[in-house]
Amino acid sequence: MMDYLILAELLFPEVTTTPEELEERFPPRDLPEGAVVSRMAPSPTGFVHLGNLVQGPISERMCTQSGGVHFLRIEDTDAKREVPGAVETLLLGLGEYGIRFDEGVTADGEKGNYGPYRQRQRAPIYHVYAKKLVLDGMAYPCFCTEEELAAIHEEQEREKANFGYFGKWAIWRDRPIEEIKAALDAGKPWVLRFRSDGDINNKIPFTDLVKGKLELTENDIDHVLLKSDGIPTYHFAHAVDDHLMRTTHVVRGDEWLPSLPFHLQLFRALGFRPPKYLHIGPLMKMDGSSKRKLSKRKDPELSLSYYREAGFPRESVKEYLMGVLNSNFEDWRRAEPTADLSDFKFSYKKLNPAGALFDYAKLTDVSKNVISRMTAETVYGLYLDWAEEFDPGFAALIGKDREKAIAVFSIGRGGKKPRKDFGTWAEVRDFIGFFWNDCFRITDAYPDEFDRGDIKSALLSFASVYDPDEDQNAWFDRIKAIATGLGYAADMKEYRAEPERFRGSVADVSMFLRVAVTGRMNSPDMYEVMKILGRDEVAARLRSAAETL
Ligand code: GLU
Repeated sequence: MMDYLILAELLFPEVTTTPEELEERFPPRDLPEGAVVSRMAPSPTGFVHLGNLVQGPISERMCTQSGGVHFLRIEDTDAKREVPGAVETLLLGLGEYGIRFDEGVTADGEKGNYGPYRQRQRAPIYHVYAKKLVLDGMAYPCFCTEEELAAIHEEQEREKANFGYFGKWAIWRDRPIEEIKAALDAGKPWVLRFRSDGDINNKIPFTDLVKGKLELTENDIDHVLLKSDGIPTYHFAHAVDDHLMRTTHVVRGDEWLPSLPFHLQLFRALGFRPPKYLHIGPLMKMDGSSKRKLSKRKDPELSLSYYREAGFPRESVKEYLMGVLNSNFEDWRRAEPTADLSDFKFSYKKLNPAGALFDYAKLTDVSKNVISRMTAETVYGLYLDWAEEFDPGFAALIGKDREKAIAVFSIGRGGKKPRKDFGTWAEVRDFIGFFWNDCFRITDAYPDEFDRGDIKSALLSFASVYDPDEDQNAWFDRIKAIATGLGYAADMKEYRAEPERFRGSVADVSMFLRVAVTGRMNSPDMYEVMKILGRDEVAARLRSAAETL
């Protein structure tokens, strides 16, 4: 029988802290019954992706709505994957999308009593538990080289055995202490492995809060707990951190589900109570007629910069994702069109276990609604911010002309049925560009069936009578009068009853004016448009269009 005490001292001579001391240093949180403590635990890869925005709101909502604590932990155990500035990018990205944290890593250092919150700084803490596991006979050092492990893998392939370090393949599992000592003395690098007592013939029942009741296969692999640099693997860090930080709920991608049996084993070996788990399905998209997972390599829409470039307001992305997460969100929004998104009562029970389907058309639709509810000032500010980066020419135009731009954005805004012209900032210029002479062009032609002389006469007549101070009724009376003078029906009912009596209707005359003034057949309310352009500009456009006829 191996003397675990000797082994523990041999491996971790510097560790003097006990698990009991850590329990005292990080006591259970003093929170009301039912309060959720959860976290985001991203790796600093320099890439904030849509998955973060799916997971983040779930844990954040659960914590906030229950009066709990939401914290940010940086999982920087993989130094190779780390990108400089990644933490800042992450904080910025999450902050922009309103994912708040009560505790953890922040832009100005760490906040909270359960840190450090960057895993690499927690090495001494992991070592306390590593030593404990060795003492309990639940962990042992393994000196296998990469080549030896590759050879084991090859042999397993030949024998058609399961892969991994277990059973007879776990060649350091039961080495005598003398051999271990010799290897240490020789300065050979080692990793610390878990001594699994699991059997793959055993099934464990488990209830995941999203996936429901599951049957898991026990883990029989002696997985690595500490790498040769003394830094833990995700698994070991997960157990230690989420215990010591008193996490009650872990929300994470379901790619971790296969590791769950190992995690549960670890929690048991460490004497910790496991948290509750919510394993979230991946975001998917339609590819032809089949669904597939969104992939970082193939799909730009996984990256948040994609939404920024396309000009989706963040509020739209947030709102869209909430609808994806909770199917009752849309009904709530219809009933509460002006309420803040955070007033919605999110429930994890409504998450789709299979994962959510990402739908660009739906996002655009949601975004049209979100933008239609904003004030003209907000639209102007957000749009200008976008345009300064992605359409600087137009940004300069409207930046100089704040009042006019706000008047333009005000058309059809407010009221019960606001206009829903655009879902992204990239579409805005198309809708409003004609207000500025630099962007104004006539793009739609007058339909052939109308007499050019009629059109010309309508444009010139209106040019000489237009008065922006008249109210909408008086304004429309002017158009009707021009219609009547040209033999076009002023009254639509009359026109519909006997169209053959007329050359056209007042709607056609309005269209003549619309094309001359806005360049197209469709535009926002003409009365408003003309008022913003003003008498001189309207007259000039009408006259110049008349000249081309
Ligand atoms: N660093 C892990 C990841 O990014 C965290 C998973 C978890 O939340 O536990 O996938």
